Amino acid sequence: MKYRSVKGTRDLFAPESERFAATERVAREVFGSYGYAEIRTPTFESTDLFARSVGETTDLVHKEMYTFPDRKGRSLTLRPENTAGVVRALIERGVQDLPKPIRLWYAGPQFRYEQPQAGRYREFHQIGAELIGVPSVSADIELLGMLFVFLRRLGYEGLRARINCVPTGKARETFSAALREFLRPHARRFGPDDQRRLEQNPLRLFDSKDPAVQGLLKDAPKTLDFLDEKARAHHEEFKRELPQSGVDFVEDGTLVRGLDYYTLTVFEVTSGSLGAQDAILGGGRYDNLFAELGGPPMPAVGFAIGEDRLVAAAPKDPRSEKALIVVVPDSPDEFSYALAVSNEIRACRPDAGVETDFAGKGIAKGLGRAAQVLSDPSRHGARVSTVHAVLLGGRERESGTVTVKDLASGQQRTFPRQNLAEEFGAARQA
Ligand code: AMP
Repeated sequence: MKYRSVKGTRDLFAPESERFAATERVAREVFGSYGYAEIRTPTFESTDLFARSVGETTDLVHKEMYTFPDRKGRSLTLRPENTAGVVRALIERGVQDLPKPIRLWYAGPQFRYEQPQAGRYREFHQIGAELIGVPSVSADIELLGMLFVFLRRLGYEGLRARINCVPTGKARETFSAALREFLRPHARRFGPDDQRRLEQNPLRLFDSKDPAVQGLLKDAPKTLDFLDEKARAHHEEFKRELPQSGVDFVEDGTLVRGLDYYTLTVFEVTSGSLGAQDAILGGGRYDNLFAELGGPPMPAVGFAIGEDRLVAAAPKDPRSEKALIVVVPDSPDEFSYALAVSNEIRACRPDAGVETDFAGKGIAKGLGRAAQVLSDPSRHGARVSTVHAVLLGGRERESGTVTVKDLASGQQRTFPRQNLAEEFGAARQA
């Protein structure tokens, strides 16, 4: 084979593609019920945007971006995450003049040059939401509550958020310095990446994959001991109010998340349904990001869910049920009759899938193909509730009738074509 999909990318066929679409439909419904509107931003942006927002010293920017010069030599990057694009778009729109709060959600592909492994791709998908313009902890609470409602709608159970509070401003500098001082005596044993992190941005050492570094961090200074008064109040209120939103949580002082823009609240969510402790999502507050990117100061909080993992691990099929009606012409002589009958059924049953079989190799073969769907309905594009076959032979064509067979019960009836609406209307109620 000459052409193959590029390493770390994949094609989504039905039913998987339909599960993605159905998951996004649930997101639209749930987030819509909280007043969120969809935003779609470009899949590539200028490289600077990510370097500035996600952070120069993060692994994401340092090692994982798809960066390329365009024909005029401008450095562009396929978005590795969507928050930076949303913030850039809002600043460009004049965020200061828009009514607050601003509630936005998105779903789309993201790109990271990572080692592909189970559930990890180089092109993957995220569903996320951003709540902009609310400094109070109520925003964090509403957002997490909404997230849990969404995950539960998809059948996830045993959900638990790991939460932490990351110091900002002067307190963050003090924390960084304390961390550096604590770790420096051990630096000789660090790899080059971690040595660089230690000097440039010690918080990033929490992302280290070196078990020795992770071991040291267990006894290192803790974020929660460095919060200023405002941050502490924010965090305490967050913990006090969260249970009322149906959010189960544990506090984890080592959670800092791999992106630089987070301030105060950060969280990840794991689910009993996932088995492994791998997070399906992450999020937090990013009160400094708008200003950092040249906009006005603007508080904000958001999350991004890994959609690939979310769909793969979903405890129930998110697709809604659909009736399937297969129209089977006996031979090519009945093709045009079959097209007309199919259209008439579609007109009276817009909720059903009406598929015209164009093999024309006889009724028995057509019926066999329809029966295959019945034997494993979940493999079809939709989740199939009932399967009917509409059999059209020479007799039906000449007399203007149709023969309809319910494949589950085997019952079969022949009636005039004019009665289709009546008969199929009745099938819907059955
Ligand atoms: P992040 O943007 O790094 O906070 O990641 C948020 C979520 O996106 C993670 O919890 C994963 O579920 C998902 N994710 C991140 N990178 C990948 C990837 N390469 N492939 C699949 N999912 C990913």
